[in-house]
Amino acid sequence: MEKEAMYFEKGESNKVKCHLCPHNCSIAPGKVGICGVRKNKEGTLYTTIYGEVSSIAMDPIEKKPLYHFYPGSAILSIGTVGCSFRCKFCQNYNISQAPGYPTDCYSPDEIVNRALKSSSIGIAYTYSEPFVWYEYVLDTCKAAKNAGMKNVFVTNGYLNREPLLELLPYADAFNIDLKSFNEEFYRKVVGGKLKPVLKTIEEISKQGGTRLEVTTLIIPGYNDSDEEMEKITDFLASLDKDIPYHLSAYYPMHYFTAPPTPVKTLVRLKKIASKKLNYVYLGNVREDGDTYCPACGSLLIERYGYKIKILNYKDGVCKKCGESVPISG
Ligand code: SF4
Repeated sequence: MEKEAMYFEKGESNKVKCHLCPHNCSIAPGKVGICGVRKNKEGTLYTTIYGEVSSIAMDPIEKKPLYHFYPGSAILSIGTVGCSFRCKFCQNYNISQAPGYPTDCYSPDEIVNRALKSSSIGIAYTYSEPFVWYEYVLDTCKAAKNAGMKNVFVTNGYLNREPLLELLPYADAFNIDLKSFNEEFYRKVVGGKLKPVLKTIEEISKQGGTRLEVTTLIIPGYNDSDEEMEKITDFLASLDKDIPYHLSAYYPMHYFTAPPTPVKTLVRLKKIASKKLNYVYLGNVREDGDTYCPACGSLLIERYGYKIKILNYKDGVCKKCGESVPISG
């Protein structure tokens, strides 16, 4: 359904300017912004996807991926259509680049009640970009918090600071895609800018109590150099060396036909990232999803796909040496 949008200003000749994400689109009457789901109707901006759910499922939290947030739990996951980016390799382009994809409308309370009736720890806003249906996500987050549930985001991090600060009190965990450390890659392949994403990561990392994990989809020939991995891990380590970092294998999708990421590439990059970060994981492949104590090397959590076995970990510490381990739940 349509609902008046937040974060826009009215301009001359019935134009509006949307300030939700760093594109800051100027939108003429009858037109939509870059995300395809925020429309100027006679000088007022509307979200066209309030409550419009394109995908809904119970997922393991590890699928997000979040490895340091309630390991082994399940979470009700919802997504919508549209996106602020145009990634040429998008793994979910069928919904992210298709504002007309079929949806079903759910109120925030309907989603929260569905989560409460299941074994879910809360709600994950995922599958495509959650910030493009900000108004609905914010309302659903508030309803979920009132019901004692968690809110989890899997996002490209492309949100202006003011709406981010409004959302943060209701957010429990984020996995942010850091697609590259190269502005040109963001501009040409993604259709956005790197700096605002770094700012979002910095802002969230400052929030005590909000779990942050970061993921990079490694695409051969694009973002798989040693130098780029050094830059990414220097940046993350400068914020907090305990930020869990996921290196995911890419598979050919959308406009990209390059072959899948070789496992040996991921292993090489993991070696570099692990020099600065305590928790580096490989994703979309079978290898290396286990959590080890950074102090004594004990195996804390073993993972087989999305199945986990908790071993030498309990209540935030390594059972072998007592080292504090940043895991919520
Ligand atoms: S949310 Fe959509 S309309 Fe608003 S600035 Fe971003 S891309 Fe443009």
